[in-house]
Amino acid sequence: MILIQGKGASKGIINGPLYFYKKADTTITKVTVDNLDAEKERLEAAKAKSIEQLEALAEKAREEAGDESAILFETHAMFVEDDDYVETINDCLEEENCNAEYAVKTAGEQFAEMFAAMDDAYMQARASDIRDVTQRILNNLMGITEGGIDSEEPVILAADDLAPSETLQLDKSKILGFVLREGSGNGHTAILARTMGIPAICGCGAELTEAYQGRVAYIDGETGKVVLDPDELTLTVFRNKFAKQQEMKELMETMKGQEDVTLDGRHVKVYCNIGSPDDVTAVLNNDGQGIGLFRSEFLYLKSDDYPTEDQQFEAYKTVAAAMNGKTVIIRTLDIGADKQVPYFNLAKEENPALGVRAIRICLNRPEVFRTQLRALYRASAYGKIAIMFPMITSVWEVRECKRACEAVMKELKAEGIPFNPETELGIMIETPASVFMAEELAKEVDFFSVGTNDLTQYTLAVDRQNAKLDKFYDPYHPALMALLAHIAKAANENGIWAGICGELGADPKMTEKFIEMGYTELSMAAGRILEARKIVCESEL
Ligand code: PEP
Ligand code: MG
Repeated sequence: MILIQGKGASKGIINGPLYFYKKADTTITKVTVDNLDAEKERLEAAKAKSIEQLEALAEKAREEAGDESAILFETHAMFVEDDDYVETINDCLEEENCNAEYAVKTAGEQFAEMFAAMDDAYMQARASDIRDVTQRILNNLMGITEGGIDSEEPVILAADDLAPSETLQLDKSKILGFVLREGSGNGHTAILARTMGIPAICGCGAELTEAYQGRVAYIDGETGKVVLDPDELTLTVFRNKFAKQQEMKELMETMKGQEDVTLDGRHVKVYCNIGSPDDVTAVLNNDGQGIGLFRSEFLYLKSDDYPTEDQQFEAYKTVAAAMNGKTVIIRTLDIGADKQVPYFNLAKEENPALGVRAIRICLNRPEVFRTQLRALYRASAYGKIAIMFPMITSVWEVRECKRACEAVMKELKAEGIPFNPETELGIMIETPASVFMAEELAKEVDFFSVGTNDLTQYTLAVDRQNAKLDKFYDPYHPALMALLAHIAKAANENGIWAGICGELGADPKMTEKFIEMGYTELSMAAGRILEARKIVCESEL
């Protein structure tokens, strides 16, 4: 038996073959070639493979979501054969006498820039389609597997570490679990695993070697154990725990349809955290009564370029409409630190967690903020959207956000575009400064939502990304408990509500304590809400 002890990052028991993730080297350099015909043949083969993949995707989309969803892939397949596009690639090949990758990359970029510079918003949006198509052809030229997993069967994905953007690109249907050599349970990849309800273990170290590729591993996302060739006793323990997990799932089914009310009649909203419109299925399957945190930045992380107003509008509208009148709190862009988006061209920083991130980027780049706010307000006409600003430290920042909202509402009104002028505005409390300013801040907004992940990081001066500091990252620290109590009190005394959307919100040990402190909303991964509802329903203060 081989036992590797890591740190549990997302609960759940599973077994399956280990698959070691290979990071794709996508750097493209210009190479002068001797045999141009060979490059042309490679190009034709990559184009043919791209069309084949796109037709298969169109077919799958048609079966799963209807004709409209298939159109995107059909359009992409047409782009691959577009005369002008193909001619520009071929001209580049001939003129530069270069490798096919360089010609595709150069021609694709020229084309995308041409579309982006057009006046018409629809044509501008086509720039990202061109980039998508170009990337697909490049992947096929370079032999990069889409989704990063070249396996027919679902696997337990093993890697050194995964950036949130890499995790998002993976084909979820192929992933049973994650096992990482490095990584911290407090970073965004672990959070994504919890959001997706996939067991995950980090900090496995060098013992997790590629020699185990393809071998069946048993993983326990709670205890952090990765086992190969289990002995009889270990296998029995895994099987019993797996059976308990199934039993628990069945028990939790009985909580569906129940109201989130304590025995003494207090209403506590048990909401979900999501990162993309796809996550709404899990929210609905678990009978989630609302969305307490939609991490909108994942739309930016998934994309090769700034998502347009229309693309964002569609994403927010889809979520709002699917939730059918239930609250959907969407957090404005929170990138920076571990969530890096290359096309933002942010300068490298010594201390990224204390740097240009979250609301600071939006206030420094009003155009980026305006685009997102326009999309949010437009979507507010299709459901009960609330807008939330991250990483607030000062009253002036909130006032500036509110001014940006007012300007956007004025524009939409003038353009005759519907929106909800009563859209609630809230802020995340995740810096000590905002805790001490809570009374003043409460007078500015409709609600607070506490980001315990960052509040822990900034209060204890512990980098949440640094796995070596895990034992110092203590979200139960008395200093944090005092801050949490203060936030709820300040909110209640000033007539607004307060919730928790950091990972501590899902902690069953904290549920009653939060209710006692005066919190009326707890937001967590969809897979955790029925358990939280059970505790709420059994609580009496
Ligand atoms: C938090 O900081 O607790 C939070 C919810 O935001 P994120 O984890 O995305 O930084
Ligand atoms: Mg945060």
